[in-house]
This record gives sequence, structure tokens and C-alpha cells, in this order.
Amino acid sequence: MSLFENTLTQIQKAAKLMKLDPNVETVLSNPDRILEVSVPVKMDNGAIRIFRGFRVQHNNVRGPYKGGIRYHPQVDMDEVKALATWMTIKCAVVNIPLGGGKGGVIVDPKELSLRELERMTRRYTMAISNFIGPDIDVPAPDVYTNPQIMAWIVDEYSKIHGKNIPGVVTGKSIAIGGSQGREDATSQGGVYVLEEVLKQYGKKDVKDTRVIIQGFGNAGSHVARMLHAKGFKIIGVSDSKGALYCKDGLNPADAMTCKIEGGSVGECYGSGEACEMMTNEQILVADCDILILSALENQITAANAAQVKAGIILELANGPVNPEADEILEGMGVKVIPDILANAGGVTVSYFELVQNNMNYYWTAEEVQTKLKTIMVAAWQSVHDNSLKFDTSFRAAAYISAMRRLEEAIKMRGGY
Ligand code: GLU
Repeated sequence: MSLFENTLTQIQKAAKLMKLDPNVETVLSNPDRILEVSVPVKMDNGAIRIFRGFRVQHNNVRGPYKGGIRYHPQVDMDEVKALATWMTIKCAVVNIPLGGGKGGVIVDPKELSLRELERMTRRYTMAISNFIGPDIDVPAPDVYTNPQIMAWIVDEYSKIHGKNIPGVVTGKSIAIGGSQGREDATSQGGVYVLEEVLKQYGKKDVKDTRVIIQGFGNAGSHVARMLHAKGFKIIGVSDSKGALYCKDGLNPADAMTCKIEGGSVGECYGSGEACEMMTNEQILVADCDILILSALENQITAANAAQVKAGIILELANGPVNPEADEILEGMGVKVIPDILANAGGVTVSYFELVQNNMNYYWTAEEVQTKLKTIMVAAWQSVHDNSLKFDTSFRAAAYISAMRRLEEAIKMRGGY
């Protein structure tokens, strides 16, 4: 099954449970607009290389298209369609007035010089510039994109339009109109939801709750820091090169030092008896209470779902558990906190960033935190209520919350 087919499977499951109007399901199963662009870039050696770029605008019935841009060698149109669809659903789960979109460029950014990366970003911006804008479609960071890349997009787009337009993207640095709290918003939102879930379903004291985190990028490293500070026992971390498992707990700050100095969290951590190196496959099924998936899609599948030891899975990545694995985990009683709820803190603070750009007036970190918490807790309550009402998983319940809101908007506006 392709990633977009996974998405459709999730939509279908919830649509059936909630008896969604089939016309609404049809609309939500078909992205509004699909762009594929050629991105020619003069490389440092003088040769022109063509990169392929995508932007999918899935649905804007509740507000402008919104969603990140991913730079990855394996990105393709099917993946971007899935990710764009999840953005529409995600924004509706947290009830913010935005739609869904996603972009991607097939590239391994680690192979490009900084200048090449800048030229590629500017050229991609130019290629999609007629289709984005603060009221139209607002990109943001995703896998291997960051505030520097957002700054180049703002600069290029503003040049084309002859004025400064910071609201064309979110996830910017504070220096050019970013929001307090955006950097770690995905993790912060996930922590707020996790705490609510543990209030209902937690079985142990925080200090005895053992956590494994797959992926040590933006989401993974911040969630590790936050949970460690709250007293959770972080016993495993991994990145694309390796994994480390310490049964008595580890300090994520040391793992970060290892990553910076040795290139991987698994490389240089103290070789004490309580620690062992693992492969990425092993860490996913190692003994723990909470497994946090913050890498890429399709990590838990029919091949490894039955071996999962965690009682709770928090999806900070998009699509890390596929539909077959979902069925198996549901049967095992594992609670999966789905991506469209768990990682929605990122786009929620992106929404705050847009609002602040529009007002040209900026909030304190405390204001951002308070507003984010209110939204995440309300979203969880709606998802939890639906999971009880329809006797279903948190994922299906989150789709039900989102698709009810989308259904209302689609029917109210009409126009088909
Ligand atoms: N890329 C993030 C996501 O998948 C953030 C999107 C945004 O802030 O627009 O949710």
C-alpha cells in the first residue's frame, strides 16, 4: 500500500463509523491541486542540475492551505499527497482555521553546499510563487528544512512582490517575524497531550515511566529534553545512524553532545554496563512503557507491530504506524496517540505565527504556551470523547472529530 492509500484507508475507517456523507468523503479523498515543478540549479562546479519539486494543496474549505516543505532523497508525489491530506485533517483536529498542503523536493540536503541549498530553495520558491501567499498557501519546515530555509523563501517571495511578506511561511526565526515557542512546538504539543492521556490511562509514577524515542531531529531531541526535565526515565534514543538503550536511564543532553561530536546518538555515549548499542529495528521493539516515534513514516508495520512492548505510542512523526500495524496494536491494547493530534502543536504555533504577522504585534513565550495548551487539551478531549462514543481507536476518533468539522464547512459552503 502506498502512503496515500494508507491515508485513504484511515479516512474510510472513520467515515464508516461516523456515517460521513459519501460526498464529503469523495471531496476529502482528492487533493484540490497538484503541482510538480522543475528546479534547475547552478551547482558550485558550474553544471546545472535539475531537482524535482512538488506542492500539493489538499483542501482549503476551513482556511488557507498550510503545511511544511520536505527535502528528502526519497520524497515523491504520493508521499506529498498523503502528507497534505493529513495537514487538512490535523488542522481540523485542533480546530484552527487552516486547510492542508505539503511540499517536497527530491534532494539529499547533506550533499549540497550551503550556497547550492540556498539557490535551490530560491528557485523552488520562484517555481511555486504564483500558488503560495499568506492568504493562499503557507509553507513551513518539515523533514530536513529549517528556519534558515524559511528565511530564504521569505526573501525570494518578497523580492518577487516588491514588499516584505513575512507571512508567506511560518517556522521563521524570531529575527524575521517568527513566533516564540515555534521551534519546539511540535514536542510541546505532544507533551501536553501525553500528560492528558497519562491522567486517564497512566499506570505508573512518572519517575518509573520508561520512554524510548526514535528519531533525534527537531521533534525527538526536544521531546527528550522536556520529558527528562519532568522526571520521565528516558531509556532509549535513536537517529538514522544508530540507537542507544540504557536500562537505568540516560540524559538526553549527553546524547545530543554525542550526536554533535560523533555524528550519532549511538556513537560516543558512555559504555557503562547499563547501556547497549542497538539497531533502529531493535530499539522499536525494546522494552519500555512509552514509544515516541519522531522519525519518518512506516516504522511500525505488520512486520514488527506484534513485537512492540510499549503500552503507549506517541506519533510525533507523520504516518509512522501504518494501517495494518494499527489493527494489530489495537488488538494488543496498545494506545496509539495519532500524528494528527500528537504532532499538531507545530502547526498550531504556525497559526499563532501567522496571526502575529498579520497584527505585526508579538506575544510572549508564556502567552504562546498558554494558548497552545488550551488548544491541545481541547483537541484531546474531543478525540477522547469520540473514542468512547464510537468505541474506537484514538486515530479513528481524531478523524471523526476532524471530518465532522470539515463536513459542516463543506456542506455550508457548497459550490459543487
Ligand atoms: N511540518 C509540520 C507538520 O507536519 C508543521 C506544518 C506547519 O507548521 O505548517 O505538521
